[in-house]
Amino acid sequence: MRIVTLEEHYTVPGIVSHIDLAAIRRRGFPGPDVVWGQQIKRNDLADLGDARLADMDASGITVQVLSVAGPGADVVPGEAGIKLARDYNDALAEAVARHPDRYRGFAHLPMLAPEAAAVELERTVKDLGFHGVLVNGATDGLFLDDPRFEPILARAEALDLPIYIHPGIPAEPVRNAYYDGLPGNFSFTLALSAWGWHAEIAVHTLRLVLSGALDRHPRLKIVIGHMGEALPFMLDRIDETTSAEAKGRLQRSVKQTILDQVWITTSGFFTMAPFMAALMTFGADRIMFSVDYPFASNARARAFLDALPVSAADRAKIAHGNADRLLRLPD
Ligand code: ZN
Repeated sequence: MRIVTLEEHYTVPGIVSHIDLAAIRRRGFPGPDVVWGQQIKRNDLADLGDARLADMDASGITVQVLSVAGPGADVVPGEAGIKLARDYNDALAEAVARHPDRYRGFAHLPMLAPEAAAVELERTVKDLGFHGVLVNGATDGLFLDDPRFEPILARAEALDLPIYIHPGIPAEPVRNAYYDGLPGNFSFTLALSAWGWHAEIAVHTLRLVLSGALDRHPRLKIVIGHMGEALPFMLDRIDETTSAEAKGRLQRSVKQTILDQVWITTSGFFTMAPFMAALMTFGADRIMFSVDYPFASNARARAFLDALPVSAADRAKIAHGNADRLLRLPD
């Protein structure tokens, strides 16, 4: 069976070394005293060759659609950020050219320069053959519904390729108010992978709906990972509590807008209860298999895919069919 995964990360240490360490710290990336995924997995992240392919082969994964794990151009303002994003995209394009049937790309954008980001998105699609863009959380504390990001939403919609909204480290006031003061590394873990990342992406997605951004861009396609970032569980409640005001302000209910314009992936979530909620809410046409390599295990994810209680036709949609169509991947 062809298997496509699309929340799969890489880094280029020679590019990251050009980013000002103070900017990385300001964005909330931890110092060397905190042990976390991006330190532990940095060798795996940096490999775009044989080791990554061998791990994919061992679990029967045909294609990884690759994206940058932060820090990246979103913490670098001005021309330097624009150049950094181009360097990242050119490096990924070289890796894709070496293994075009195994690797595909999502653009990395200079989010602090949204007009230039829209131009770079178009360049990566038209010149480099990329399949959309992945954004790592908020930029400068702002979500994509902020009017400054309008050029990026408009260009993605015009190109008919998705924006994958991926978690980033929460802004400092959020970390301080919600997560600080716990023992050991619990504050950091709770702010990120245990809870904060996922709550924030749900908020990010809901802001795109409630601001009217998705009504203004009705053909814009959004992807979120981690089995829908808790939205499958929450959508009915959100609809109940917003429906009266939504009738006057929005063209559709919140739930309807999300079901029309949002796709979800299984990245990092390999248990049945969240999958069943996702399947009952979004349906098999909107769920796409993903791993979150190298932070999650290809082998564990593959075992989960094989165990899904769905028909062969639905398994094929989840494994590759939905992603093939959404990203216009070559066979
Ligand atoms: Zn990820």
